[in-house]
Amino acid sequence: MKLLLLGPQGSGKGTQAKIIASNLGLVHISTGDLLRSATGKLRVEIDSYITHGNLVPDELMLRLLDEKLKKLDYCNFILDGFPRNLAQAKMLDSLVQVDKAIEIHIPDEETVRRLSGRYNCKKCGAIYNIATSPKPKKKGLCDICNIPLYQRDDDKPEAIKKRLAIYHSETSPVIVHYHAIRINGNQSIEKVTQDILKVL
Ligand code: AMP
Repeated sequence: MKLLLLGPQGSGKGTQAKIIASNLGLVHISTGDLLRSATGKLRVEIDSYITHGNLVPDELMLRLLDEKLKKLDYCNFILDGFPRNLAQAKMLDSLVQVDKAIEIHIPDEETVRRLSGRYNCKKCGAIYNIATSPKPKKKGLCDICNIPLYQRDDDKPEAIKKRLAIYHSETSPVIVHYHAIRINGNQSIEKVTQDILKVL
């Protein structure tokens, strides 16, 4: 199965994609993670977009995704964070046939609340959320590494506003394009998973 998981930032796409991938034996591909794993000059170029809340140019994003899909032999996957606009959707359609698209829906205020509470550990990659969960046991420190947590530049208020505006203008048409099935993301993680599995 080739599955798309769509939804605004902070809707829990990443969390659900991991759970669904392991439940159904699919490969989880997060384009955000793919971009953040780049190194050297390419990483500097990518960061110049990400840190300001902008999308990475389609050609670059597609090149990286196509390399990844080729490596995986275009196997069954769950795509998290792609396509972000109609141009990317059309390019994806020329590579593979998408079987189903799911939209995890949350209101804008919830996106802002969740993203602005998100803190990360630079060393081990753990993600905490002081607005939702998991909260760190000691304020501002990673439970595992005991070092100060940091906030991603794109989780800061100005970047969040821009990311949401881009989501509404560019990503919403993708939801229509794939007739994505809407799931209420404003529920417990377990309930969202159940709802997704039901429609699959
Ligand atoms: P995410 O982890 O999915 O929230 O992505 C973090 C950032 O990576 C986004 O705000 C974009 O700057 C960039 N990004 C992720 N996926 C894409 C994509 N499909 N096209 C362009 N930029 C992307």
